[in-house]
Amino acid sequence: MKFTIAVLDGDGIGPEICAGAIQVLNAVGAKYGHQFTFEHYPIGGCAIDECGDPLPRATVEGCLAADSVLLGAVGGYKWDDMPVDKRPEKGLLRIRQAMGLYSNIRPAKLWKSLAKASPLRYELVKDGVEIIIVRELTGGIYFGERGSAEGADGEYAWDTEKYSVKEIERITRIACELAVKRSKKLVSVDKANVLQSSRLWRKTVHEYCARNYPQIEVKDMLVDNMAMQIVKNPAQFDVVVTSNMFGDILSDEAAQVTGSIGMLASSSLGDSKRGLYEPIHGSAPDIAGKDAANPIATILAAAMMLRDSFDLVREYAAIEIAVQKALDDGLRTADIAEKGMRTVSCSEMAQAIADRV
Ligand code: NAD
Repeated sequence: MKFTIAVLDGDGIGPEICAGAIQVLNAVGAKYGHQFTFEHYPIGGCAIDECGDPLPRATVEGCLAADSVLLGAVGGYKWDDMPVDKRPEKGLLRIRQAMGLYSNIRPAKLWKSLAKASPLRYELVKDGVEIIIVRELTGGIYFGERGSAEGADGEYAWDTEKYSVKEIERITRIACELAVKRSKKLVSVDKANVLQSSRLWRKTVHEYCARNYPQIEVKDMLVDNMAMQIVKNPAQFDVVVTSNMFGDILSDEAAQVTGSIGMLASSSLGDSKRGLYEPIHGSAPDIAGKDAANPIATILAAAMMLRDSFDLVREYAAIEIAVQKALDDGLRTADIAEKGMRTVSCSEMAQAIADRV
């Protein structure tokens, strides 16, 4: 099969980690007979330098014409003092909008061989952990009506959590599509004991799943309990679906369980198969250009693209297994190395994973 991938390298370590992911995708293509064509477009700081806009029109058009999009990271010291609207990060928000992406999927995976990096007790994580949080990205309290006013007690302010059945159904569909390819278990997180919007959330998730994905077992969990369970027994979770604000908080908590930011990928999806795949970390300007970054988060983002945009589940698994083998063989970039371990560079790690594909 043939696929065109728009690559937005971005700033800092972006070009290095994207090069690593491309190397691994080419290895997958050679093994399974696929042809990946990579078209590079500027975003973020480098786009500001090139044409004064963190998201040039050609980049948007290139992304919309491609089968999917791989992003490195944006930002850096050089652009820190620019006005908010002109900053590199604005390019990210705008590309999500332009592509109509309303979900964010963040797998927090702790690999067995890195279990000691977790801040949790070894017994809790020794068999590995993988919590995939599917977060609604364009609705809820972050986008609801807000305001402030003066009252008898002085100034007060409010924000509104509002969700429609349509918004809940479309994020549930994305979570279900993942769950059917995995354990067929879904945990839906809400605060239905207090919030009206959560009661609609809960009812809609159940009705939608019963109608469209009867093979999936749905369990509800209150957000306060979920926050506790992530540190008490993280291995119980697989796919989790939740609202914008709860997902924001819980996905950061779950990421901490893994102990390493350089290993975590994420994707944003909308109605079409075209998604935006990226590592969760930033552009790491402190190590940029030194060939020292960990490319695994971006390589795993590329693997998610194969599975979720192109339905290449076997090829996704091939990358996961190759990463596992590289870790089992003792390969470590500096950020994941235990004391005294020999470390490899970004390009050596990417090569090692490509070889193991
Ligand atoms: P960061 O994630 O870039 O770096 C935090 C720390 O983690 C640094 O010490 C860095 O060296 C390390 N690190 C990050 N990724 C790594 C990797 N792959 N391998 C090894 N070490 C890694 O966060 P920050 O320092 O707060 O932000 C730097 C810049 O990145 C800022 O301009 C920020 O706005 C931007 N940023 C961009 C994104 C994005 O593009 N999605 C996300 C977060 C931050």
